[in-house]
Amino acid sequence: MHYIDYLDFPGDIGNYSNIGNVINCQCGVEYGTQEELEEKNNKEEIIEKTEVYQENMEVDGQTEEYNVHDFNEGELKIYEPINANDSLVDEVKSHYDSLPENMKNSVNEIVITNQGNSLGWVDPQEIDNGMKRLYVNPNNCLLAPGKTYQDTINHEIGHLMDRDSSGSWTISNGSYFKDGFVKDQQIMLGKELRGVEPYLEKNTFASGYAYSRYSMFPDRPYSEEFAEGVMKYMNKDTHDIFVSNFPHKAEVLRNIIYL
Ligand SMILES: [Zn+2]
Repeated sequence: MHYIDYLDFPGDIGNYSNIGNVINCQCGVEYGTQEELEEKNNKEEIIEKTEVYQENMEVDGQTEEYNVHDFNEGELKIYEPINANDSLVDEVKSHYDSLPENMKNSVNEIVITNQGNSLGWVDPQEIDNGMKRLYVNPNNCLLAPGKTYQDTINHEIGHLMDRDSSGSWTISNGSYFKDGFVKDQQIMLGKELRGVEPYLEKNTFASGYAYSRYSMFPDRPYSEEFAEGVMKYMNKDTHDIFVSNFPHKAEVLRNIIYL
């Protein structure tokens, strides 16, 4: 049996309503024409509440003062060193806005930093503490040929999607992703046998970097493969070639990214 409870006004606990509908209810009533209300709702969606404050933070062993741009009360925080010459905050925010929901939901703190030797990283311990934070060093990204800092952000979001708070790399260690990887690999290596294309084992990975990390991290051999896959799938310049080289893996990624 399915009941519909009719409320005549917010807080209504009359004959046709149920007390459970009004406990902690935050509803209000607004009067206006259809057009007036729609216009008002649209405006409210566009206006974002941003708060900016300063915070001292240690990144890669260096304590520095950061501006924290807090969008919509913690939906997304972007950290940037207060001495940054050209602010990347707006660009990073619009990159974030362009991402599919499932990627957005996997991150709520992006730390733009000058520290460290990497293009970007995540801290497994922070993830285990319930944080959804990634670090990106745009200056290091500039030195990496063919890789933008947006690519790096997407790569790191891949890691955030992959690692669950119980400490396992759920997606990349799971059979769904591995099966896709192995199917593509077998096709490519089969081609090599037939002499169509000289595929080497390393060519069956999303990138040379993913291949080099494959044997380096025995507890998460495919984690870089997954993150590089997310990156290549999301970049419009590499998307098509990635999908045609790795059709099974791409299908798996599509299902995960657009969950
Ligand atoms: Zn990585």
